[in-house]
Amino acid sequence: MQKTTHHFARRVNDLSESAIFRIGARAKALTHDGHDIVRLDAGEPDFNTPQGIIDAAKQALDDGFTRYTEIGGLPQLKDAIQRKLEIENHLHYSHEQIMHTCGAKQGLFNACLSLLGPGDEIVIPTPHWGTYPAIADIAAAKIVNVTTRYEDGFVLTPESLESALTDRTRVLILNSPNNPTGQVYSREDLAALGNVLLKYPNVVILSDDIYEHLRFSDVPYTNIVNVCPSLKNRTVVINGVSKAYAMTGWRVGFAAGPEDIIKEMQKLQGQTNSHTAAVSQVAATAALNGGLDEVKKMTQVFSDRAHQVADGLKKIERIKCLPAQGSFYCLPDFSPVIESLSDVNDDRELADWLLDELGIAMIPGSAFNAPGHMRLSFAANDQSIQKGLVRLKQAFA
Ligand code: PLP
Repeated sequence: MQKTTHHFARRVNDLSESAIFRIGARAKALTHDGHDIVRLDAGEPDFNTPQGIIDAAKQALDDGFTRYTEIGGLPQLKDAIQRKLEIENHLHYSHEQIMHTCGAKQGLFNACLSLLGPGDEIVIPTPHWGTYPAIADIAAAKIVNVTTRYEDGFVLTPESLESALTDRTRVLILNSPNNPTGQVYSREDLAALGNVLLKYPNVVILSDDIYEHLRFSDVPYTNIVNVCPSLKNRTVVINGVSKAYAMTGWRVGFAAGPEDIIKEMQKLQGQTNSHTAAVSQVAATAALNGGLDEVKKMTQVFSDRAHQVADGLKKIERIKCLPAQGSFYCLPDFSPVIESLSDVNDDRELADWLLDELGIAMIPGSAFNAPGHMRLSFAANDQSIQKGLVRLKQAFA
């Protein structure tokens, strides 16, 4: 048969394939071939969804939750989101200011596609999750990266934020706890950024709170609206059940913000995937209404592992790392390691080298706009973490 060459739209031609997927696929293939590979590359909790949530989903199928739902979400899900925001975040939103999405990812997609057109600017602090610039590219927006530094605890400073904002800035993304750095913005950090943002009334803030519950201190969670309530009428809070409740595959996120923005986001969702599965919406309702006991147990495990990783890396001379305060990632600086290896020129080559030579899978920092670094995920059991640390110590101490 004659081979047909298809012509693709620029928006997909320009999208790069995920480095996360590439390393994951190589690690899987090596494991399949009998190699002992330590997986420190996972982007999701290594726990199962709590049984109570699964039971609620089974019951939902028997109860007939198999049809289309409202675009914004089942009323009981909206109630649960509203209650969660009220009780856990001290933020009040009406049903019209809330929508569910197909994962937090779609919340971000809906918001960016609703707010950004060609040439509009979006400010993205780096290092950042790789999907932010991909969504901005789809919207044909201009990406303005602001580098956060190790010395500043990988948080955005008011000076660097101000240097990135222009009268064409439409969106700023804030993500705390952060993927990939594992760092958390303090009240003071956010207050300082809020003061700058008050001078730029056209900027909408997307507060990506997806790792909210996965924090390793008793300090209450804070987002920019908590600290600077006058920004509430131009902030969209993005969150979901994926990470906190180990529900990545159920695909339920949510967004809360000004009614006019949520309305446009719903219009877009209504003409794309409509909504996430009805059964998933019922499961998410059960998760949000079911209390935080399971979430706290999982967070404690992540916290113990964060300490194990920090203690282990401290003993390795050629690797520098800020201990994670939240999420299940940290971002060690491997630049001295790269310099010391004659056949490795950058972090992408190092990711392959670590897989081939040490049997460790980690994601290269370039995937997060952090060249020279590697993202280490501790969504892995204690044995794997210890094995990985021993191998790194033997190679680079
Ligand atoms: N935001 C950040 C920073 C993430 O790391 C992820 C997933 O990795 C998401 C959002 C998306 O979450 P969801 O699985 O709910 O779409």
